[in-house]
Amino acid sequence: MSSHMPSLSPGARRRLEEIRGNAPRPSTSVRTLAAFAHHTDCPMANLAFAAGVDLERLLVGTRFQPSFGQSPFAFQRGLAFEESLRRNDYAATLDLLRTALGDPLPSPIVVNMRNRHPKNHAGMALRWQDTRQLLDRMIRRDPGAPNLIDGAVLRGEVGGLEAFFEADALAARALGAIRVAEVKSFPKVDGRVDADKLGAAVDQVAIYLLLLRRIVAELGGDPEALVSVEAMLITPLNVGLRPTLSVKAVGPRVVRAEKVLAAVPRAADVIAAAPAGRSFGPIADRNADESRRLHSLEVLADEVGTMYRPDCLANCGNARFCRSQARCKGEPALLGSVAIRLLPGVATLGRAEELSRGVAPTAAEAPAAALLAGAGRLYDEVAGASATAV
Ligand code: SF4
Repeated sequence: MSSHMPSLSPGARRRLEEIRGNAPRPSTSVRTLAAFAHHTDCPMANLAFAAGVDLERLLVGTRFQPSFGQSPFAFQRGLAFEESLRRNDYAATLDLLRTALGDPLPSPIVVNMRNRHPKNHAGMALRWQDTRQLLDRMIRRDPGAPNLIDGAVLRGEVGGLEAFFEADALAARALGAIRVAEVKSFPKVDGRVDADKLGAAVDQVAIYLLLLRRIVAELGGDPEALVSVEAMLITPLNVGLRPTLSVKAVGPRVVRAEKVLAAVPRAADVIAAAPAGRSFGPIADRNADESRRLHSLEVLADEVGTMYRPDCLANCGNARFCRSQARCKGEPALLGSVAIRLLPGVATLGRAEELSRGVAPTAAEAPAAALLAGAGRLYDEVAGASATAV
């Protein structure tokens, strides 16, 4: 994601740069946004997102570096696969589209946006302008409009900031709805794609579709008629690089994406609430000692606040660090969302154990304490009966 700050004051913009420091920036795909969408209730994740910090790379070089990044092998395979889709004037990609779009596309028009402009923020803004013009031609049924745009850039507003996102492909037949295609290098084997990876990929397409619908509406088109709610996923077949296409309806995910984007806190508010003088820079500094980097993160996390849950491990780069902190503090969240729901107001698992032995609760602990005391009595009865039987 590439963003700039049209709605931020110069002071807030300066503070945002300070908070980010030299920390790595996230990519321009919606993968970052889709991953963040699971954690909009976490103040630390909100601060990193507003400041444009890539949490997947923040802790690289420390013992808490995340393990879900792509291996170099998978990365190379992904590049080779993408390259194969562009070979011979996109021959393999167009073959897939002919089937998916139900159109022989006798004279397909393909536009490659990837190398038109510099790979920086200004370049993304120019690619967005070009994409917008092409989309305008597509929705006006211009005979010269493209059937396939490789590397289109869509614009959206997230947390009050303008952001640009690079979509793998937008495709349309001559008189049909526009579709979003996402290219992934994980394989389709025996007609099936890994369910978790498929779910993450179609969540990303749902965000692209949402942005696309908004742009089509801005251009005066009817999003219902002009934007398909089917995601097209292009993946390799088995272990080779032969591409195959999966199509999945994602209407409900588009609705969910809209709610998630609306719930992202405004960056200006997040920045205003950030502790003075703190920055992600010292945490990201790979020349510094690990202990100094982690100490900086501990201080920031304590001041800003976190909201650890086991599902952080699937999609937040700070998860190993936050799990370690949660273990040190004995947080109920370690046991998952059910424990969080059952133990409102109980700060630690140690305190839950005390309450299960009938210790007097505080007012905040009272609802959970009644359940815990009951469970404690039940446990004592069962344990007592077992001991008598022996
Ligand atoms: S891992 Fe930590 S920073 Fe990331 S969402 Fe979870 S609690 Fe927040």
